[in-house]
Amino acid sequence: MELRWDPIMSQWIIVSGKRGKRPLLPEGYCPFCPGSEEIPEGDWTVLSLPNKFPALQPEPPPPSVKSDRLYRSRPAKGVCEIIIYTPKHDATLADLSVKNIKAVIDLWTERFIELGSRDYIKYVFIFENKGRIIGVTLDHPHGQLYAFPFIPPIIQRELTSSRRYWRRTGNCLFCRVIEKERRDMTRIVCENEDFVCFLPFFAHWPYGVQIYPKRHVGALPELSEKEKTMFASILKKVLRKFDNLFEMSFPYMMVLHQRPTDGKGYPYYHFHVEFYPPYREKNKIKYFASVETGAGTVTFDYTPEMKAKELRESPET
Ligand code: ZN
Ligand code: ZN
Ligand code: FE
Repeated sequence: MELRWDPIMSQWIIVSGKRGKRPLLPEGYCPFCPGSEEIPEGDWTVLSLPNKFPALQPEPPPPSVKSDRLYRSRPAKGVCEIIIYTPKHDATLADLSVKNIKAVIDLWTERFIELGSRDYIKYVFIFENKGRIIGVTLDHPHGQLYAFPFIPPIIQRELTSSRRYWRRTGNCLFCRVIEKERRDMTRIVCENEDFVCFLPFFAHWPYGVQIYPKRHVGALPELSEKEKTMFASILKKVLRKFDNLFEMSFPYMMVLHQRPTDGKGYPYYHFHVEFYPPYREKNKIKYFASVETGAGTVTFDYTPEMKAKELRESPET
């Protein structure tokens, strides 16, 4: 288990020789249900647990290969956790009350602060993979987090663009995008007092909506209690819209993009949530195939305006 540097793509790869052999769970057994040996006894609404098969560890073993100048390796030091959204096995995030979703947001915030304060954690990445189609084998509603010892490349890229824009214009790039989307209106999915959801002009995925706080904040701890409730409320609405439009429990990848936790200042970064749902229409999968994966260029076979309209018109209850 180690990090290996790809000198061609300039990025770290997490190599875990043993994770590939994760055991299959017995049929009908859920390790995240109350009563399972992993779960502490007593009442709870939300819970964070260490990932039993972590890709990153606080005390990692030494790398399995030697590091040299071309082929660098280093210990896979970090933290992987599971965030259980509710004790109810058959629920989804979309089914939970706004109060319960707010409890999930409070837990995300607490884990961000605790892990982000560790000196070896440079970035806390909170996410959810939902649905068998994404490769999730456990149905119990849960998300995860990876606390990285480096800033991951997609975040790095967003930081580079927003830093450049900030230096050139004195403005937040994300605030300008929000302003522009709210003025154009054609790609807005829904909004409330403190948050807005839209499919950006430059969306990558057919249903790749993004959620932004209207106020310029870099990470969850800067949100007020009221803003966190508004965040929970818009999250629920967006998820209901997905489920209603597709008449199924809609699968997705959902990621939180927050500022790094390496102790440096990132005044130009603006917290947001991004969704990458694997469908392009009912029963039609969106593949990230050769052009996307091998050339890094997105082909969008509709217009974001079309897809935003579908979601805008989809019921949110
Ligand atoms: Zn369960
Ligand atoms: Zn901003
Ligand atoms: Fe982002």
